[in-house]
Amino acid sequence: MKNKYYIVGSGIVGCVIAHELAEKNAEVTIYERREHVGGNLYDFTDEHGIHVHLYGPHIFHTKIERVWEYVTRFCGWQDYNLVCGSIMDGICVPTSFDFESVDKFFPDEAELIKEHIKSVYGDQKSATVLEMLECEDAYVRKFAQYLYDKDYAPYTAKQWGIPPEKVDRQIFKRVPILFSYGSKYFDDPHQAMPETGYTELIKNLLANENISVKTNTEALDIISVNNDMVYINGKPADGTVIYTGPIDELFGCRYGRLPYRSLRFEWKYEDKESFQDMPVVAYPQAEGYTRITEYKKLPCQKVKGTTYAVEYPLPYKKGEANEPYYPVLTDESNELFAKYKKLAEQVNNLICCGRLADFKYYNIDQAIDRALDVAEKLMNGE
Ligand SMILES: Cc1cc2nc3c(=O)[nH]c(=O)nc-3n(C[C@H](O)[C@H](O)[C@H](O)COP(=O)(O)OP(=O)(O)OC[C@H]3O[C@@H](n4cnc5c(N)ncnc54)[C@H](O)[C@@H]3O)c2cc1C
Repeated sequence: MKNKYYIVGSGIVGCVIAHELAEKNAEVTIYERREHVGGNLYDFTDEHGIHVHLYGPHIFHTKIERVWEYVTRFCGWQDYNLVCGSIMDGICVPTSFDFESVDKFFPDEAELIKEHIKSVYGDQKSATVLEMLECEDAYVRKFAQYLYDKDYAPYTAKQWGIPPEKVDRQIFKRVPILFSYGSKYFDDPHQAMPETGYTELIKNLLANENISVKTNTEALDIISVNNDMVYINGKPADGTVIYTGPIDELFGCRYGRLPYRSLRFEWKYEDKESFQDMPVVAYPQAEGYTRITEYKKLPCQKVKGTTYAVEYPLPYKKGEANEPYYPVLTDESNELFAKYKKLAEQVNNLICCGRLADFKYYNIDQAIDRALDVAEKLMNGE
């Protein structure tokens, strides 16, 4: 008899776990409520021949060697260093912010500001905007305050729908300020894009006869939890359930809803060579939207015309036409999550993992690392 596993969600976490278990001859069934596999990594070629990411731009980057070794087994990769920008007061600068921002926003005082930064921070390569705002040096503070007022604060408020003071401090660390020129958005040793797209990577992970995938299937119509048992179609589960959806929904939101942020994408096509200077540009001062991705500027795209997506953040409401993309991390939401986690730990044969079930802001590599850990534990019988 093969061991049985039921996986809720065909995002990268569900698919890596499915692959690992199926390789060990387990029988794996995946339930996916969307009409396609891949979760937020899903990509495809649009009617203009431009390869787009339906749920926002995804650039792979990692420091985790075992994850890089793992993903390169399933498809070819093209090295790619993402260049992002931000437009403030009509001027576009690269992000992470660097000395180019000093030159462009403070042309008359640029040398002075850079000298003060160097004398305060010495050999240090970067700092967060919050650290720089607390600096005793008035020139350092002036530069940081400008970026905070024009970019970090309005962008963050739109993205998370809450005042910047309430946002988890970790978020501000994601875009540090660099004390040099030629900034890159990520500093990981491996930065790349799958040559034929993420959907191909996902399909290769799932290409095993021990895996069956049921798309257009809401798992919570089939799977339920009662005290310490998971039920499938009203009977105690005859295998382990791995749940990668929003953890509050698994328990009927009994303690209240965990807050997730969603996005609405406005897709546009224009018959012109270029729409903006860089593939991903933030528009912190724009009304309602945060950033625009111009897909032909990502690798492997030599086409006429250009497709771009304008991102409008909004709260997630189940049942309405949007998806839970980002867990909103605050002290209150972390406390609420801890209550759901405790409930999940009391249930036999249930593992909750992934961005939505762990209520954590995982990048793709962290999500894969988590999936490999879970698969290893399951295979070791833990
Ligand atoms: C806009 C955006 C941009 C991003 N850009 C990057 C980037 O550039 N680089 C990077 O490294 N990371 C990026 N990420 C993060 C990346 O998307 C995640 O790390 C990764 O997708 C997490 O995978 P997952 O399997 O945990 O979750 P998901 O991809 O969310 O997959 C969960 C799946 O479960 C399904 N599901 C949920 N509940 C149920 C249910 N009840 N029944 C059936 N199916 C269900 C969902 O439909 C979904 O397909 C980005 C994320 C977003 C939102």
